[in-house]
Amino acid sequence: MSHSVEGHVPSGVDARSSKSESAAKPNDRKSCNERGEKVRAILKARLGEDIYSSWFNALEFESFDGRLVIATVPVKFLKSWIQSHYADDLLECCAAEFEGAERIDIVVRQPGMSKPAGQASQTAGQPNTAAAVEVPSSEQRRPLSRPGPAFLVGRTHASGFEGSPLDPRYTFDTFVVGPANRMAHAAATQVAETVLADDRAFNPLYLHSNVGLGKTHLQHAIAWEVKRQSKAQVLYLTAERFRYQFVEAIKSQDALAFKDKFRLIDILLIDDLEFMRGEKTEQEFEHIVNSLLDGGKQVVVASARPPAQLDGLNDRMRSRLQRGLVTEISSLDPALRLKILEKRAQEKRATDPSFEIPSAVVELLADKLTESGRELEGAINRLYLTWQLMHAPVTLDIAETIIRDLVQGIEPRRIKIEDILRIVSRHYAVSKQDILSQRRHRSVVRPRQIGMYLAKHLTSRSLPEIGRRFGDRDHTTVLHAIRKIDKEVGENPRLKDEIEELKRQLHR
Ligand code: ADP
Ligand code: MG
Repeated sequence: MSHSVEGHVPSGVDARSSKSESAAKPNDRKSCNERGEKVRAILKARLGEDIYSSWFNALEFESFDGRLVIATVPVKFLKSWIQSHYADDLLECCAAEFEGAERIDIVVRQPGMSKPAGQASQTAGQPNTAAAVEVPSSEQRRPLSRPGPAFLVGRTHASGFEGSPLDPRYTFDTFVVGPANRMAHAAATQVAETVLADDRAFNPLYLHSNVGLGKTHLQHAIAWEVKRQSKAQVLYLTAERFRYQFVEAIKSQDALAFKDKFRLIDILLIDDLEFMRGEKTEQEFEHIVNSLLDGGKQVVVASARPPAQLDGLNDRMRSRLQRGLVTEISSLDPALRLKILEKRAQEKRATDPSFEIPSAVVELLADKLTESGRELEGAINRLYLTWQLMHAPVTLDIAETIIRDLVQGIEPRRIKIEDILRIVSRHYAVSKQDILSQRRHRSVVRPRQIGMYLAKHLTSRSLPEIGRRFGDRDHTTVLHAIRKIDKEVGENPRLKDEIEELKRQLHR
């Protein structure tokens, strides 16, 4: 099947047909795919699994005319990143398979653009790569060259308006990059570099993850970097602070002045967006974000939830927040946790060179502290304090105690059966009465069983107790439900995801 990349061939490219005989039927889709697969393997061997899956999983080979290879990616950001970091690698790896290739052009796939036959989505199971990235918009931009008074983050502005404070330790230098956060980190550095440029890769940037995985760290790093490099006006605000300032402004009948403060901002960073509450506050936020984006200013948002799950904001705002780059930081893998611990220990050593942590202790911490960077930071602080007191290497026993304290300290709040009933009934759109009733229709039985399953796994209630709370049922019914769902979860990844999502909602 011959294939043309109509409309996607960059201007100036001579899309003529085959030049060399060796590249017989160069534009043949199948052969392009086959060769593409080989190029992928070479790239993977050359760059390592980690880098490969972060940047090349979503790359597809579209055509080859004997000279020019056209590859596609789903988002502009990937295109610019690959071009600026891996252009030579890519061309060299291509040249081995696409004989005669002189150039490779990467184009952004249009949403409806077909994938090469036989090539399934490469992004499945890669929550931190393009799968978690939405297609960027072509937000209107205009040049940003406007003089204005300095507006410093964390300081009181002449008018009394304050940003939230920035932590001096949260910079790009102290951020450790790994598979969990590679995309988010790259996007953040890109935002910092291009804040005053016209050709920004994406806007807004939306980071989301569970707590403690580095969203705030990256936002502060962007803010510091922008301030270091340019005269751009930076404003970092937590959603709570935004709300507080806005409410104060309304109280003092200063709402217009509040709005006006944002006029001079080049980059607005909003943290913990899930806490943006209150109808008026949300409206004001939407208005401000829209006018910043319309005016070509950069917006960066961090939240515990993806845009689609932000209940408070209206649909238009949610979709606007999705139009730039949405990327998730996934949980930190053991190697990354180890590196973060080592980095933190190193920072302590900068002030106290004698500080040591035996590697067995670091490994134990990396192994046990699985939830968030906060625990890791806490652990190093505790170890350092212990070190200062005792001036002897920390033993594994002490490390165990520290771990116990930390893990207990961050234990998620106790989940109640009432919460489970509420979340399950909302998720499956059945009423709580129906769940508790004797109805045996599948649409009711299923959520009921899932509810019991969650109650067993997330609370310390006994089976008879769970039965009682789920409409006075016998404990054998509960047991049957739990076994059934347990088994299905093992077999059905969709159900597994569904349950994970319910758990996430319950842990919020
Ligand atoms: P979030 O905002 O996602 O809840 P934070 O940015 O507050 O998370 O991170 C929690 C702690 O973990 C901070 O001390 C932060 O410096 C640290 N941390 C998280 N990820 C990393 C990383 N990749 N490298 C270094 N420190 C990290
Ligand atoms: Mg945070």
